[in-house]
Amino acid sequence: MEQNEVLVKLDDISQAYGRGSRRFMAIQDINLAIRESEFVALLGPSGCGKSTLLRIVVGLQKPTTGQVIYRGKPLQGVNPQAAIVFQTFALFPWLTVLQNVEVALEARGLPDKMRTPRAVDLLDRVGLDGFETAYPRELSGGMRQKVGFARAMAVEPELLCLDEPFSALDMLSAESLRGELLELWTGGNIPTKAILMVTHNIEEAIFMADRVVVMDKAPGRVVADLPIELPYPRNRKSPPFTAMVDHVYGILAGHTEPEHVELGTAPGEPGHTRALPHASINELMAILEWLEESPGDQFDIYIVAEELRLDSDSLLRLTDAAELLGFATVAQGDITITPLGEAFAEASILGRKDILATRLRRLPLFRWLMTLLRAAGSQQLNAKVVETALELEFAPEEVARQMETLINWGRYAELIAYDDEVFYVEPDSATKVA
Ligand code: ADP
Repeated sequence: MEQNEVLVKLDDISQAYGRGSRRFMAIQDINLAIRESEFVALLGPSGCGKSTLLRIVVGLQKPTTGQVIYRGKPLQGVNPQAAIVFQTFALFPWLTVLQNVEVALEARGLPDKMRTPRAVDLLDRVGLDGFETAYPRELSGGMRQKVGFARAMAVEPELLCLDEPFSALDMLSAESLRGELLELWTGGNIPTKAILMVTHNIEEAIFMADRVVVMDKAPGRVVADLPIELPYPRNRKSPPFTAMVDHVYGILAGHTEPEHVELGTAPGEPGHTRALPHASINELMAILEWLEESPGDQFDIYIVAEELRLDSDSLLRLTDAAELLGFATVAQGDITITPLGEAFAEASILGRKDILATRLRRLPLFRWLMTLLRAAGSQQLNAKVVETALELEFAPEEVARQMETLINWGRYAELIAYDDEVFYVEPDSATKVA
């Protein structure tokens, strides 16, 4: 197959920060080529060097070693062919929406007379028709971000870089802006040749990009480079989409075992139904936060137990839960938090719910419970029905523990509700986006 021209190439890029004994490698030996017509997502836990890499790509920062090659030539200084959209775009509050875009056109040297019609056209393309005379304070977060996109577009960048562009928006605005950007991109209505987007949202990366580059930290490096060959517009609920999401979660969680060995099977299926470890999500949070905040990567389990004043039984249940959910790995008496576990510990409450929901949907017991609930006419089930089914798999005292854990985890992730001995499907649990 004929390949498109390479737009930007990173050759053995490394970046060190700090001095003397505090010097460390933020990113090490990154080699990456981005070709024309590619939409690449850079995914990884915070601190893995995504923003550093983005600044290096556009020339805002010179790497400690290595070279950025743009269209075959070493990049010197800031790349005039690139633009960055940040998480929250700094608009000039004293200028109108139209003037905010005109400023960017002026900086590009566009003659006076051409600025206004061009700015109006750009605002129209991002869906801000009619808001030209509004001031930034009158706009919602989503609309302000659209002005940011229009401004980035004003410089007609060949390479559009996006640094977590949707993460400061509420869920609905983020989703509509993602759709609009994809329409502009796939419709070929912008002169942009390639997009590089930093995100730590797995579903967002797979929803938008046609290539996902996964990074890990300490030192920041590329651990996977995956083509996403799903046609646009993508359906978050389609099996190939969810399989891809699971695959990337697996990489970030560091799993190597085949899923059925690791997770067990669902009740009624041949094979062993794996009991959920009896651990509450709040207890799990405490241990993950401790691991994430303590200096170092790997800890002796019994030191963790002492620090957190846990008896060995509670500790085992918690480490078991952390492993099952992909938040930590345990080997030879040591526990290590995974990038996914770090992302979970650092996320907002909503972010945690989303991560947990995606993880729980993979667990056979949850898959089974959700299928049962959806099959029930009113999307609700009496606890007794679930209990009876579980009794075929587990001893009576274990059934009670499984019920408790299903309720605790399912409620936290807002997949299910439980009230007065009845299970319900949370209304948006099927469509929830990360
Ligand atoms: P990410 O965007 O993936 O969260 P960053 O590129 O912001 O990662 O940071 C990577 C690592 O480098 C982090 O440990 C961060 O604290 C450190 N870092 C980033 N910028 C600087 C800087 N200017 N000086 C020192 N350390 C930095």
